[in-house]
Amino acid sequence: MSAPLTFDQRLDRLADIAVNVGLGLQKGQEVVMTAPVEALDLSRRISRAAYRAGASLVTAILGDEQQTVLRYRHADNSSFDMAPSWLFEGMASAYRNGAARLAVVGDDPALLADEDPEKVARANRARSKAYSPALKLISDFAINWAIVAAATPAWARAVFPDDSEPVALDKLWDAIFKASRVDGPDPVAAWRDHNAALARRTTMLNARRFHALRFTGPGAGLTVGLADGHEWAGGASTSRNGVVCNANIPTEEVFTTPHRLRVSGHVRATKPLSYMGALIEDIAVRFEEGRIVEAHARKGQDVLQKVLETDEGARRLGEVALVPFSSPISQSGLLFYNTLFDENAASHIALGQAYSKCFVGGDTLSESQLSAQGANRSLIHIDWMIGSGETDVDGLDADGRATAVMRQGEFVI
Ligand code: ZN
Ligand code: ZN
Repeated sequence: MSAPLTFDQRLDRLADIAVNVGLGLQKGQEVVMTAPVEALDLSRRISRAAYRAGASLVTAILGDEQQTVLRYRHADNSSFDMAPSWLFEGMASAYRNGAARLAVVGDDPALLADEDPEKVARANRARSKAYSPALKLISDFAINWAIVAAATPAWARAVFPDDSEPVALDKLWDAIFKASRVDGPDPVAAWRDHNAALARRTTMLNARRFHALRFTGPGAGLTVGLADGHEWAGGASTSRNGVVCNANIPTEEVFTTPHRLRVSGHVRATKPLSYMGALIEDIAVRFEEGRIVEAHARKGQDVLQKVLETDEGARRLGEVALVPFSSPISQSGLLFYNTLFDENAASHIALGQAYSKCFVGGDTLSESQLSAQGANRSLIHIDWMIGSGETDVDGLDADGRATAVMRQGEFVI
């Protein structure tokens, strides 16, 4: 047996996976990277890996959450309708010119929990609006992009509240490395195998062409109609610039587009949702004709209501995803308070924007065609978890005939 990898080696491997598996970076391609200041070390290693892979220029934009809090404490009320549109326009322009986009995330899940929800909502709305041209290029996969995680002190304290900060940080890094498959003899080969397994699952679901999925279990009696011409995706995907990328490191989900008018019934979240620094717990909603007509949360109700009021599409679904309960992130038993990890621990749905990629020939469909086939449009896209070890999922044909897809959280199809 070979010696276990050192922390530095694991960090270098994560950087290598971010660049070569996540982005699939091409020689001569530009990279726009955002990262928290606490992830400076990883961010530098990513730059090195990117230049070694032939990047023409890496631009790192480091963010500091403490300065976000200063705004809430000291800025004039009018500040909360503002966003740095100049920055987001610059990013959109870089993507239009072929730059790849790498996001390193490590957010404090409770950063804004004590701030005025009204201000949080206004700031989020202004930000979403200013960011939407850049986000559209990302969500339409116009370019190759990827998200990877870095352990930060505030995030680690939230995930491991009973440990000292250094111990919590070590544990969170360890969980990130494991979930990101950095440890085996050949991480790139491990990702190739994992992508192949996810591709077998999407191929099988695409062959079935289900009309709807039915979720049943504690707190769930939900029918999610699937969009006409929907396509399942998962793992590696080819962006419109022809580059194969793994947008989420880690990833365990297969996902597709619900029909925005054909969702009915009720469902409860099986994990808390951390949204822009606020925690929303025990969400329970009821859908009629695709629209959320009742929504409750035991904690964070104000934030949830504000989210649902973002625009008309915020009350409808843009994604449905299946994740087995046996997935490694689920089995870690940890609650990460971060969508990148928690969405890969449980089957989930997302409020808001649909991915045009999740349609057969989606690249060639116009906005109005996508809409006619059932795609939802919104400024937001928020995944929240509805699956557990007790969730059953059936695929329904147009005549209502059911096929078992998952039983007690595991694929049986
Ligand atoms: Zn998802
Ligand atoms: Zn999503």
